Amino acid sequence: MIAQVIVDVAAKQTDRIFEYHVPDKLKDVEIGSRVFVPFGPRKVQGFVVGLTQNSEYKGKLKDLLLVVDEMPPLTPELIKLSADLAQKIFAYRITILKAMLPRLMRANYRKILTPITAEAKELPLFQGDPVDLNKLTDVDQIALARKLLRNDQAKIEYLVENKAKKKTENEYSLALDKDEYQKILNSLRQNALKQRELLTDIIDNFNEYPKKQSNIESELKIKTSVLTSAVKKGWLTKDAVEVYRNPLSGFDDEVKDKKVILNDEQQYALDQVAESIKNKQAKTYLLEGITGSGKTEVYLHAISKTLSDGRNALMLVPEISLTPQMVRQVKARFGENVAVLHSGLSDGELYDEWRRIRRGEVRVVVGARSAVFAPLNNVGLIIIDEEHESSYKQEDNPRYHARDVAIWRSNYNHCPLVLGSATPSLGSRARAQKGVYQLLRLTKRANNKNLPEVHLLDLKHVQFAGGQFDLSVELVEAIKDRLEKKEQVILMLNRRGFANFMLCRECGYVMKCPNCDLSLTMHKDTGMMQCHYCGYKEAIPTRCPNCQSAKIRFLGSGTQKVQEELEELMPGVRILRMDVDTTRRKGSYKKILDAFGDHEADILLGTQMIAKGLDFPNVTLVGVINADTGLWLPDYNASERTFELLTQVAGRAGRAEKTGEVIIQTYNPDHYAIQLSQTQDYERFYGYEMRVRHEGNYPPYFYTVLISIASKKEQNAAKEAFNIKRKLERNLHPDTIILGPTPSAISRLKNQYYYQILVKYKKEMNLNTLLHQIQDSAQEIKKYGLNVYIDNEPERII
Ligand code: ADP
Ligand code: ZN
Ligand code: ZN
Repeated sequence: MIAQVIVDVAAKQTDRIFEYHVPDKLKDVEIGSRVFVPFGPRKVQGFVVGLTQNSEYKGKLKDLLLVVDEMPPLTPELIKLSADLAQKIFAYRITILKAMLPRLMRANYRKILTPITAEAKELPLFQGDPVDLNKLTDVDQIALARKLLRNDQAKIEYLVENKAKKKTENEYSLALDKDEYQKILNSLRQNALKQRELLTDIIDNFNEYPKKQSNIESELKIKTSVLTSAVKKGWLTKDAVEVYRNPLSGFDDEVKDKKVILNDEQQYALDQVAESIKNKQAKTYLLEGITGSGKTEVYLHAISKTLSDGRNALMLVPEISLTPQMVRQVKARFGENVAVLHSGLSDGELYDEWRRIRRGEVRVVVGARSAVFAPLNNVGLIIIDEEHESSYKQEDNPRYHARDVAIWRSNYNHCPLVLGSATPSLGSRARAQKGVYQLLRLTKRANNKNLPEVHLLDLKHVQFAGGQFDLSVELVEAIKDRLEKKEQVILMLNRRGFANFMLCRECGYVMKCPNCDLSLTMHKDTGMMQCHYCGYKEAIPTRCPNCQSAKIRFLGSGTQKVQEELEELMPGVRILRMDVDTTRRKGSYKKILDAFGDHEADILLGTQMIAKGLDFPNVTLVGVINADTGLWLPDYNASERTFELLTQVAGRAGRAEKTGEVIIQTYNPDHYAIQLSQTQDYERFYGYEMRVRHEGNYPPYFYTVLISIASKKEQNAAKEAFNIKRKLERNLHPDTIILGPTPSAISRLKNQYYYQILVKYKKEMNLNTLLHQIQDSAQEIKKYGLNVYIDNEPERII
């Protein structure tokens, strides 16, 4: 048998398939297996993408060295997906294959030298044991090892070390019959208390063995030493059995599954999807439902339907809305059948969850973006909640969009895909308009609550409370009013830190990151000026670093500063802050939300993190401190993102009996994205924004490809950008629009200068080939310190 392998080498030939002979001892190899193979002088990791009997090189092929995992980590479906996706997104297939695995499954391997002959075994080099070749540092010893290998006196074995370690626990099984235990108990000394206790437990709970060590320890308070001596005496046998680290432990508390009766709109949507589940139809639905319209209920019912049809379900949610609330809800309904995948898990938990899926031990997978690659078999339904979220697009290689991958998997598995959102992305909504997707709408709030009332406050004309320019008197009064009524408030400011730039009023100097073209953000709590892109830090200055003037100002308030202002204006107010800075530690996210849910705080203040998915019945006021933070970004998506964010955050107010109110502070009350968020009128926003996109030749009217060229030397980046542009012009259709090259909006990041070319096209036969050529030559110019990134259908263009 011959294995076709994609090898893990960063060279031009990466997408070529190499063939290897499968030796008898490795004949269990399968498509999807991870292997080690000889590659030139090296031994490298690879993935088996095919098995065949024939090859034109048959007889001349080298042997596979090793199959890494007991079970192939990737399924045939994922292997095929990697090939198609590589074509679409201009990524190397190996990059995609590796991205499909949890990060801990990057294997290391060791070369172990074992002596074969009696003579070799006696050498001081071995001292009886095999040696790790990678660890040999002595030159003479290395020479000796080589000689032994040449003379067949020793051999090399490859030992794979997965960084991901399984977690095990001791399990004790019974070695004797019940009456034998009774006999031992009768003959035991009176003062052997702990042993008596253990034997009594064994006799009384005979059928409950084998028992885990932790159970015996906690139930009987028996020490390890007693168990060890029981094993020695032959009463018990001990095995190390694998235990799964359970990321859902701690989410089991008070899980009450609400049983709701779907309203007509929900029922209709469910019926449509259920029809496709039953008929194994690869169809995409766009479930457009205002916030609080009960989309989640529709998802959960559809998942139930899928399971009862004997198939499995995959549900994607944005990282940010993988809240305890959401996880609890799914867990309450599907219990042990659920696996959760997201970056908040420890590496070990992620590895365990992933293997539970691979082994077919779960039937529902809930996860963030990369969960779209979950090795779930027999997929009968895929759901993408908040489908408009930009976090579904990966901004690094491989630059895939989870939605595209989900569509591929829906076709492969002949199953429906449900895209849900209160504010669908323009592209998806346009596709629904054309009938490519089927539109399903939920127009009413499920619990018949009215949408909250939204007030716009024009910051140009308000009076500010306190000495700063962040909080209007109206907003502060409204907050105070709610707090008196013992209700809660959510406040959003999409900017973390204390102040987002330092300005010298004497010379106009703005303190910037030395590596990036970005201003440094002041973090008062750490006493540092920080770059939010590359992590650069330096102490907060007391004088201007440029002219030494003391007249420096810190402008542009962030969440830390607003927290301070609120505490000054309302002494004693209890505030929980939620942003990247307060949620770095594992579990902190859950802690904050649980505390707010238990009314341990009056105000939840946060960045866009708090805009999505939260469902706190006692929240009656939502305040947006500055709606304009994302409005003027040089990005065709800026209006869409702003409308979306405001609509989402407004949806957090008045979700239960009490009516909600939303106050939006803005300097741009006339901007359509802000105007229309007042009525949360998605349809009108869609109509308006589509015209804007049409006039600007932007998606969804045009397809776009963004080519970025980066170099430490600005000139080199510019020069290569012009080369690429000429190549494009020579080969593309005249109607295709090629913009640039221009320096990117943020022209320098981590000491690299960026130039970009934007291609906008409607139909283009040559583009794919051309871009693959550009990608291939990018490998060659890499040695000149140039990097080229190709982003097909970029989510943003900056
Ligand atoms: P969405 O995801 O569309 O924002 P949710 O699914 O969170 O909305 O539902 C909002 C609230 O309405 C939740 O508290 C949910 O339990 C409740 N709900 C959903 N469907 C129904 C229904 N048919 N009857 C009563 N309450 C419902
Ligand atoms: Zn100055
Ligand atoms: Zn930086």
